[in-house]
Amino acid sequence: MADEIDLAQQHAAELLARNIARAVQRPVGISAFFCVDCEAPIAEARRRAIQGVTRCVSCQADNERRMKHLRSGVQ
Ligand SMILES: [Zn+2]
Repeated sequence: MADEIDLAQQHAAELLARNIARAVQRPVGISAFFCVDCEAPIAEARRRAIQGVTRCVSCQADNERRMKHLRSGVQ
């Protein structure tokens, strides 16, 4: 009985460790050179400032406005 609980805990601990390792190894996010929406080149300063950036300034603003609209629509 006690052994089973130990095994379950060990299994859970292993899963957790594996998940953490996977999360750490994953690149934080590679910034795109071109906007995914309008394909305009994204400024080097912006790419460096925001890791994993995928949109130019204006498309990002549009996107955030849309997201806000969607979120408020849900309520
Ligand atoms: Zn864009």
